[in-house]
Amino acid sequence: MSSRVSAAIESAKARAAEAIISRRQELLELSARIHANPEVSFEEFTAADAVRHIVAAAGYAMSDPDPSLPTAVRGDIRGTGYSDRDTTVAVLSEYDALEGLGHGCGHNLMAAAGVGAAIGLAAVQDTFGGEVRFLGTPGEERGAGKEDMIRLGHFEGVDAAVIVHPYDRNQLTVPALALEDLEVSFHGEAAHAATSPWDGRNALDAMVQLLASIGLWRQQMKDSARVHGIITEGGEAPNIVPAFTSALFMLRAESDTELEHMRRRFREIVEAAALAHACQSEVKSIGMSRTMQDNRTMAAVFRRNAERLGIEFPEPDPTRVGSTDMGNVSQALPSIHPFLQICDEGTPLHSELFREAAVGEAAGEMCIRGAIAQAQTAIELLLDPDLRSRVQREFATGRVHTETTDEGVNV
Ligand SMILES: [Zn+2]
Ligand SMILES: [Zn+2]
Repeated sequence: MSSRVSAAIESAKARAAEAIISRRQELLELSARIHANPEVSFEEFTAADAVRHIVAAAGYAMSDPDPSLPTAVRGDIRGTGYSDRDTTVAVLSEYDALEGLGHGCGHNLMAAAGVGAAIGLAAVQDTFGGEVRFLGTPGEERGAGKEDMIRLGHFEGVDAAVIVHPYDRNQLTVPALALEDLEVSFHGEAAHAATSPWDGRNALDAMVQLLASIGLWRQQMKDSARVHGIITEGGEAPNIVPAFTSALFMLRAESDTELEHMRRRFREIVEAAALAHACQSEVKSIGMSRTMQDNRTMAAVFRRNAERLGIEFPEPDPTRVGSTDMGNVSQALPSIHPFLQICDEGTPLHSELFREAAVGEAAGEMCIRGAIAQAQTAIELLLDPDLRSRVQREFATGRVHTETTDEGVNV
């Protein structure tokens, strides 16, 4: 990289950081507002509106992604500078909450950090010639909104995508499991549970059988595999043989191939439970997330920018693994999904403690610094053609293409 390019990058990064810091109050208010009004997957109407409003005011051309995804947000801005006009970098936000728990995953912070990054990038619009695409992606906790947005073409032309997630520690890359979200229903027949139980076909028995079979199936599962679920409808009254039951499940595996195997087995087990109790079964796939393929070249750039903001990344703990629909994006184009600390180590995600931490002081810091590191990583991608080509080559070959870029990356 010439010294002229590197000076231009440094100056743009400093200006973007200043722009984000100057809007700190507004960004933290956005985060607090979303936190105080939790909305579950695909119903994040007020969060999406608030995000849309700020991104539009920053100068992005807004469009509605699709009538089927009313809580998705898209804003595009083209630079007025002279660097490569073909490059598009996406900054992403999530804003969905957990049913019954609120923002126990801290997506309110992801919303504000992504919006902050969009503001920072708009402030240096004169430095780059490519495009920035802001994408507010609904439905991460249940379903896979990013997969829907990929299918609808909103990632077309995007060269790289960046998102940040709050956590109980800093972790640069994420070994996410492949996931399928499912709804299972059993249809039986109602009858008086005492007068003529023999006339009924018990849909709750089928559900109990399914849960018992899953428990036994676990003996044969790989250590990394996970199956978990809840019953959402278990019958109407104790004196009626339940004619209908319904449950939500999640299947997780460390590879997409292993998940395929589990999906087949799960459906066989459901069918067997239905057969055992003379019921009909129904399995509805709600969404699928793929394993995460972090782009290590991009991760190294994010790490360098984050470290300058005082964020250190220790060795990751490979046993703590969830899933994310960012995995789907990462399989389609170069992506990163770093985790940034907002609370004491050991505070579990999806807990009341994590929910409280998601509006604390450390959360505010994470939000602002996450926004800056996101924006600065995007600036390097927009202004440094050599970096961009190394990112693309890693994506194409799976190998990092220089000794310097993978220095210190946790994989
Ligand atoms: Zn999350
Ligand atoms: Zn979560």
